Amino acid sequence: MPNNKKTLPRVAYFCMEYGLDNQFKAYAGGLGILAGDYMKGAREYHYPIVGIGIRWKQGYTDQLIDKQGQPYDTYHNYNYDEIMEDTGMTVNVQVRGRNVACKVWKLDRFDNAPLYLLDTDVPGNEDGWITGQLYGWFGEERIAQEMVLGVGGVRALRALGIDVDVYHFNEGHALFAGFELMREKMEDGMTFDEAWTASRNQIVFTTHTPVIQGNESHPVDRLMYMGANLGMKPSQLRRLAGDPFNMTVGALRLSRKSNAVAKLHGETANKMWEHIHGRSEITAITNGIHLGTWVDSAMIKAAEAGKGLWDTHLKNKKALIKFIKERNGVELDADKLIIGFARRAVPYKRSDLIFSKPELIAPYLHDGKIQIVFSGRAHPLDDRGKEIAANLVAMSRKYPKAVVFLENYDMSIGAALTRGADVWLNNPRRPKEASGTSGMKAAMNGVLNLSILDGWWPEACQHGVNGWQFGDGFESDSETELDNNDRDALYKVLLEEVAPTYYDNRKKWEEMMRASIISTKEAFGVKRMLEEYYELLYKI
Ligand SMILES: *Cc1c(COP(=O)(O)O)cnc(C)c1O
Repeated sequence: MPNNKKTLPRVAYFCMEYGLDNQFKAYAGGLGILAGDYMKGAREYHYPIVGIGIRWKQGYTDQLIDKQGQPYDTYHNYNYDEIMEDTGMTVNVQVRGRNVACKVWKLDRFDNAPLYLLDTDVPGNEDGWITGQLYGWFGEERIAQEMVLGVGGVRALRALGIDVDVYHFNEGHALFAGFELMREKMEDGMTFDEAWTASRNQIVFTTHTPVIQGNESHPVDRLMYMGANLGMKPSQLRRLAGDPFNMTVGALRLSRKSNAVAKLHGETANKMWEHIHGRSEITAITNGIHLGTWVDSAMIKAAEAGKGLWDTHLKNKKALIKFIKERNGVELDADKLIIGFARRAVPYKRSDLIFSKPELIAPYLHDGKIQIVFSGRAHPLDDRGKEIAANLVAMSRKYPKAVVFLENYDMSIGAALTRGADVWLNNPRRPKEASGTSGMKAAMNGVLNLSILDGWWPEACQHGVNGWQFGDGFESDSETELDNNDRDALYKVLLEEVAPTYYDNRKKWEEMMRASIISTKEAFGVKRMLEEYYELLYKI
C-alpha cells in the first residue's frame, strides 16, 4: 500500500445497488455498475474506502420475453453463502414504529476495501421483505429500504468500529444516513442547526439523473409516519428539502460538496438545481470504468503496438456472434457491420430512432449490410418502457437475420456487446444522458462510438478520428423537432461515413479503433475518477 494513501480520508460509500459480476447481480443499471467499478478501483488502487449496500434477496428483475414478444418479469432468490461472510453483527432500525433487525454481511473478496451489506431477511423479522427486491416498490416501501441503507448503514459502521471521515452518498437514496448523523449529534446536545452544519461537513453527494421525474420525493407526512425523520419535526424536514420532500434537494443541502457525473451533466445539474438556496456546489467528475472488468487487454496491447487490432477485434466479434447464436439461435455475419445498442428501455433513450425512417434503413437490414443487436430492461412497473422493448423484439422478428434483441440485459451481455460489436450507438434526447459508461467500455475495446454529443462523449469525441457524433449538440423544447434533427443526422453519418468506412476503408477503420482506445483508456478509467474524487470531493 503506497504510504501517501495512509493519510487520505477514510470514506464510507453508500449505494442502493452494486454490479460486481454475475455472482452478485444486485444492480438495475448504470448506477450500480458505477458503484461496482468504484469498489473494484478502491481495492485495486488501495484507497481507504468501505462500501455500504443491501443484500438484495432477489435483486432486480429477470426480464424475459414471452412467445408473443412481450417482456415479463421473474425473480429468483440468490444464494450468496459462498461469497459472503457473516460479520456476526446485527443493527436495529425502527420502521413504522416496528423494530427491524438488519444483519450485516461482508463480501469477502473486497479485503482492503470491504463492502458491507445489510439484510432484513432474518428469523423473527416481520419486515424481512424490505431487502427483497431492488427498486421493487415506491412510496412507503422505498422509504423503508432507504432507511435500512442509510440509518442501518451508519449504525453498522458504528457496530463494526469503523472510523469514517467522509460519508459519500451515491444518489439521494442514502440521504437518511445524513439524518442518522444529525440524530447522533442532537443526542449529544447539538441543536438542529448545529447538527445540520456539522453533518454537512462530513457528507459529499453524487447526483445522477438529469431527468426531473427521476428525482425521488415523498410527502413529509409519509416520512413522519415511517419514522424516517429520526426525531426531527415536520418543519425541520421542510427546511431541509421542502414538502414533498425531494431526496436530491435534501442531499444537496446536507452535503458540503456534490458532483455530477460528466462535464455536460455538471452544467445541466447546476441549471436544474439553480433555484435551490443553501445547496452544495456541484462540481463535475466524469465517471470512469474498471478496465479489468470491461476491457480486453489484448486490444489495448494491439493499440499500443499499432498492429493486430483488426484480428484481435475479430476474435471478440466472433465471440459475440457465438454468444448470440447460443442465446437466440441467430447467426450474424462476421464480415458485416454490427451495431450494438444496450440501454434501459425508457422513451428519452429513443431505442428505435434508427427505425424511424423505414424506407432509408430497410434496404440495409434486408441485405444484412447493417446488423443491430439490442438489449435493455424496463423498470418492472414501467409499461411504456416495456412497449419499447416489445417494439425492438418486433423488429427482430421482422428482420430476423439483421436485428437481434437479447433479453434480460446484464453485465455479461454488456461485456459481450461492448467488446464484440463494431459500432456502439447512443441516441438519447440531449442533455438527458448523465454519463453513459457503456460507451467508455466500447471505446476502450476499439468499438467505435456513434453518439449524440451527450453524457461523457463531448469530452472524448473527435469526429471521424476516434468515433463519430451526430446531431451537433442540437437541443430543442420541441421533442418532434429534436427527434427529426437527430434522426436525419444519424442516417447521414451512418450511411455516408460509418458504413462506407467499414466496407471500403478498413485501414482507416483500424486507425480509428486505435485512436479510440488510446484516447480513452486513461481519461475514462476508474483510476482517474478516484483521483478526482479524492482531489475535488473528499479532501477536507
Ligand atoms: C455498463 C452498463 C450499464 C451502464 O451503461 P450506460 O451507458 O449508462 O447505459 C448498465 N447496465 C449494464 C448491464 C452495463 O454493463
